[in-house]
Amino acid sequence: MDKVDVIIVGGGLAGLSCAYELADSGMTVIVLERGDFSGSKNVTGGRIYLGPLRHYLPNLWKEAPLERHVTKELITLLGDANSTTFELYSDRFNQEPYPSYTILRAKFDRWLADLVSEKGVFVIPQKNVNDLIKEGEKVIGVKTEDEEIGADCVVASDGILSFMAEKAGLRKPFQPQHFALGFKEVIALNSNIIEDRFRLGEKEGAAQLFVGILTKGIMGGGFLYTNQESLSLGIVVGIHSLNQREPREEIYKFLDEFKGRPEIKNLIKGGEVMEYSAHLISEGGIHTIPKVYGNGILITGDAAGLGLNMLVTVRGMEYAMASGVLAGRTIKMAKEKNDFSASTLANYEKLLNESFIMREMSQYQNTLSILENKRLFSKYPQAISDLFEKVMRVDENPKEGLYKTIWETVKKDFLNFETFKDWLQFRKI
Ligand SMILES: Cc1cc2nc3c(=O)[nH]c(=O)nc-3n(C[C@H](O)[C@H](O)[C@H](O)COP(=O)(O)OP(=O)(O)OC[C@H]3O[C@@H](n4cnc5c(N)ncnc54)[C@H](O)[C@@H]3O)c2cc1C
Repeated sequence: MDKVDVIIVGGGLAGLSCAYELADSGMTVIVLERGDFSGSKNVTGGRIYLGPLRHYLPNLWKEAPLERHVTKELITLLGDANSTTFELYSDRFNQEPYPSYTILRAKFDRWLADLVSEKGVFVIPQKNVNDLIKEGEKVIGVKTEDEEIGADCVVASDGILSFMAEKAGLRKPFQPQHFALGFKEVIALNSNIIEDRFRLGEKEGAAQLFVGILTKGIMGGGFLYTNQESLSLGIVVGIHSLNQREPREEIYKFLDEFKGRPEIKNLIKGGEVMEYSAHLISEGGIHTIPKVYGNGILITGDAAGLGLNMLVTVRGMEYAMASGVLAGRTIKMAKEKNDFSASTLANYEKLLNESFIMREMSQYQNTLSILENKRLFSKYPQAISDLFEKVMRVDENPKEGLYKTIWETVKKDFLNFETFKDWLQFRKI
């Protein structure tokens, strides 16, 4: 059996960041990616926050093919025939170093794979890893369709359904409530049109989240990100919540219905769909994290359950990249000791626990129970939009006093025991 120092399974953000960290270490590192190229099978919303990452990957960002820096944040509550949007423009988001960018994975991951290849890592596409090779409890390599390759350490960066973590016996059985399903289209539009429609300056971007009727009471929501010359538009639904629904919904239709809403229709008018994708998202937070190390193996990114729905934003890419770097650092340390046993690789868990990743995962450990609350996806978006509509409406009758209009709705929709319980729950995050 041929042997290398490190095999990384999966050439997404986690795997490539680990490879980047290891590139100058003098070790022989290979990345095995089942897709035609890195980025070809990777889906995100997506927006990436660079604040937490600059510390881990300080030299990566100058040349990186990112899309627009986000200066405008919008949250839209969708009712059946109305909607309310909260819009934030911040000049601080428009000053370098920019806090967050929109991103297209097909471009970014491919660029990162080329970069680590130039640094001496072998990134091998169209290589599907079928199995781990073990000696007792120790992982000593991987099997692909046509060969066996040995390594001192295997890094499982194979995404959300990580087969490698399962084979290594590190992952618990999956629970549907820990996953959501996302559908996404990339819609080509001229950059001037994007800037006019979203009232953005050159290279400035917008990130918009939607909650309400679009998921028909099912846990989930929609997203829209402006790229340089396209929009990323998608919808996400919780699998558990979807399974409980009778009669069953054909969720691929949700995205078409969403696109038919006037709030969206006018934004995508004239655009051409270039890409359609569907992918799972981790919603379980800290409760779904497997043991992230074993004898001869480390688990990173989505494979390690490192993803979080923070209600106002989704996190996963920074966790994937930072965990990849931390896995790389752990491997360098293990190489110095020439010991890749679980006791040495346990340092990875320590590094993760000390990092922003586990601090945030711990801080937001109760989001799942909040996300299971149907009122968040139906009653509140509708009630808030109805109230705003009433406040703005002038018809044939003399207009009622504003205080009376607002107070009556607040009394009816919000001053009740259910809302009080929801408020108490909300205080947990
Ligand atoms: C719809 C949607 C919206 C999202 N929005 C955001 C967002 O806005 N911001 C954010 O930060 N996060 C977001 N996320 C989460 C984020 O995209 C993920 O957390 C991130 O992509 C994880 O990166 P990764 O490298 O761990 O996994 P992946 O990108 O999934 O990479 C895994 C790689 O492993 C390869 N692979 C799998 N099995 C094998 C095998 N057996 N052999 C060889 N190769 C294999 C795959 O082809 C893939 O390239 C979103 C996710 C989805 C689905």
